[in-house]
Amino acid sequence: MSATDCVFCKIIAGVIPAAIVYEDERTVVFLDIAPFEKGHLLVVPKRHAPLMTDLPEEDLAAAILVTRKMGERLMRRLPLCEGFNVLQNNGACASQTVPHVHFHVVPRREGRPLNWTPGCYDSPAEMENVLATLRR
Ligand code: 5GP
Ligand code: ZN
Repeated sequence: MSATDCVFCKIIAGVIPAAIVYEDERTVVFLDIAPFEKGHLLVVPKRHAPLMTDLPEEDLAAAILVTRKMGERLMRRLPLCEGFNVLQNNGACASQTVPHVHFHVVPRREGRPLNWTPGCYDSPAEMENVLATLRR
């Protein structure tokens, strides 16, 4: 898949909408459309590269630092969030469905097992509320 057909490149270009939480020169972060948990983020390098091994080191380094920043932000701002998972898939055989490098950052709460089946927000208003909490 080329950058022109890539859904994340389209989000980065503003061609299709996304709930953008954070953006800097090299990296963008938005809410996953089908979250494992409310507040599930995708940290995405702006440069198109299918796999982590295709991405230049400077973009990878920037993305991992933003991943850490977003983990800190989830723990600071989401009620009862005391930890987070980082997940990064490379290749269809490894469950990668969007071939543009990304890090999933999933908030976790004590006693709440992770549901690997993608869910959704109860309402658009709830999603807007999570977005506003994380974007500040
Ligand atoms: P992967 O399986 O490739 O690691 O994860 C891709 C993720 O991208 C999935 O969790 C999926 O829900 C998310 N995703 C796919 N298309 C879109 C989209 O158009 N907008 C947003 N916000 N997330 C998307
Ligand atoms: Zn792309």
